[in-house]
Amino acid sequence: MKLAVTGGKGGTGKSMVATALAVELAKNHKVLLADLDVDCPDDHLLLSIEREKEKDVMLEVPKLIPEKCIKCGRCAEVCRENAILFQKEKGPSFMLEQCTACTACMIACPVGAIGKKSICAGKIYLGSGYGVDFISGELEPGQKESSPVVNATKEVIARKEKEYDFIIVDTAAGTHCSVIAALRGCSVALPVAEPTPMGSHDLGLILELLSELKIPAEGVLNKEGIGDRKLAEDVFKKHHVGICSEIPYKREIAERYSKGIPINDESIRKLAEKVQGWKK
Ligand code: SF4
Ligand code: SF4
Repeated sequence: MKLAVTGGKGGTGKSMVATALAVELAKNHKVLLADLDVDCPDDHLLLSIEREKEKDVMLEVPKLIPEKCIKCGRCAEVCRENAILFQKEKGPSFMLEQCTACTACMIACPVGAIGKKSICAGKIYLGSGYGVDFISGELEPGQKESSPVVNATKEVIARKEKEYDFIIVDTAAGTHCSVIAALRGCSVALPVAEPTPMGSHDLGLILELLSELKIPAEGVLNKEGIGDRKLAEDVFKKHHVGICSEIPYKREIAERYSKGIPINDESIRKLAEKVQGWKK
């Protein structure tokens, strides 16, 4: 079973829930935790896992062949990532940090003036800790397009999928392309919310996205006991999503989190029991 832990806003406690749930499930099952927040992966820190590089994520990006270019501008017209700046006198300039290697410009060029070159867009790491197998993608500094790294990490996961009872996917915050890429293929999602006005606004966005992707959602209310829980409750209700877990705001949880030790709370044990029930 592949399950996503996600959340519209950063800092709601997604990674804390994903790591603690993975550790709890791993007591009785074979579990892979996949950190697909490739811009800022930190699950290994929360579990004090020493990662080892599995492979580089290479992209075949465009390379201009200046002597062939007739400066028609067609390549810039077809680039949906705005990764090509076209000036009539100078011709095209490629901003490769924004390129997704979609090849549209190479196909569209009428005179074959765009070749290819390889760049390293990121890295994939493996590790293990607390009985959990671990994989994470990490974007190369300076690269802006995270989806290719997410997709490359998912390819490695797909080859291992049958070995595991549960794959817990920790997505980035937000509703952008790499979050969509991480969510695709998950059979259920746990959107983690906090009872604050900003948390509730962003929760609405991720619930809309999950509905669009037709992924069933079960809400997790984190930091229960602070703020106004009705704010999050109302958003979950509006989107017909129940709250399956409430994690209290406790000093002990914050201390373990800050020391890189998975949280050990009754709320996580109950959540793990529910998740095991969904698999049956
Ligand atoms: S490969 Fe795709 S994203 Fe990259 S520059 Fe060409 S059209 Fe743009
Ligand atoms: S489409 Fe080809 S010929 Fe036209 S500007 Fe781009 S690289 Fe040059």
